[in-house]
Amino acid sequence: IQRIVVKVGTSTLTTEDGHLDIEKIKKIVLELSNLQDKGYDVILVTSGAVGAGMGLLNISEKPKTLAEKQMLSAVGQVSLMQIYQTLFKEHNKIIGQLLLTKEEFSNRKRYLNMRNVCNAFLKRKIIPIINENDAIVSNALKIKVGDNDTMSALVSGLIDADLLIILSDIDGLYNKNPRKYEDANLINMVGDISEDIKQMAGTEGSKFGTGGMITKIIAAEMVTKIGINLVIASGDDPGNITRIVEKENIGTLFV
Ligand code: ADP
Repeated sequence: IQRIVVKVGTSTLTTEDGHLDIEKIKKIVLELSNLQDKGYDVILVTSGAVGAGMGLLNISEKPKTLAEKQMLSAVGQVSLMQIYQTLFKEHNKIIGQLLLTKEEFSNRKRYLNMRNVCNAFLKRKIIPIINENDAIVSNALKIKVGDNDTMSALVSGLIDADLLIILSDIDGLYNKNPRKYEDANLINMVGDISEDIKQMAGTEGSKFGTGGMITKIIAAEMVTKIGINLVIASGDDPGNITRIVEKENIGTLFV
């Protein structure tokens, strides 16, 4: 069996105004369900809780305080999971929620426990849906992974994944920020994550995303070191998930 971790970012899951894009989520769920039917173990790392919370409370501006953001993530997490549960059920799939923190990866006992739990999910063909426990952790507490790109890399190591797919609002890594430079070129494959590569990623992300390209490069560095490939591709067409698994040349492949 091949294990595939798919990470979908806020920019993929939410519309221009920051609310959840249900049609997009439906397509992601279809892709993951199809993969499981083909015999793959699938794990989803998903952002979008704050966006979901904003939608529910009819807020269109980014939260101003940390507490407000944490509250929105708690409100939104429930509704996000409710959506996933309903949509996966249409494909006869059962999901379970895992809200993790850095502690799950830095404390050996918690790490081993988490790994057992994840394997219990997969053994029963239950799809783990993972997010950071944002309502509980804050940067100040120093137990926060901080972004789901890094989280997805940690999870990939935890469950010994074969492939990590990070879907974003951009079709891969460009040699410079394509939102700024018209002549930016997509890089198909990266074998060595050099300083140059990190430089390309810069520091800026989209309006609602938290990570930007740099956290995806860090994720790539983490997983390729332990023999796991990573593909960064566009989540605009979730059909890309299947294409990537079937080894079509899409996005940027890190080996
Ligand atoms: P997500 O919410 O999917 O994690 P982010 O908004 O955090 O997505 O990160 C993707 C964004 O990173 C792109 O939309 C783009 O604006 C920005 N970016 C900066 N440098 C690059 C680069 N070299 N190649 C691709 N995207 C880049």
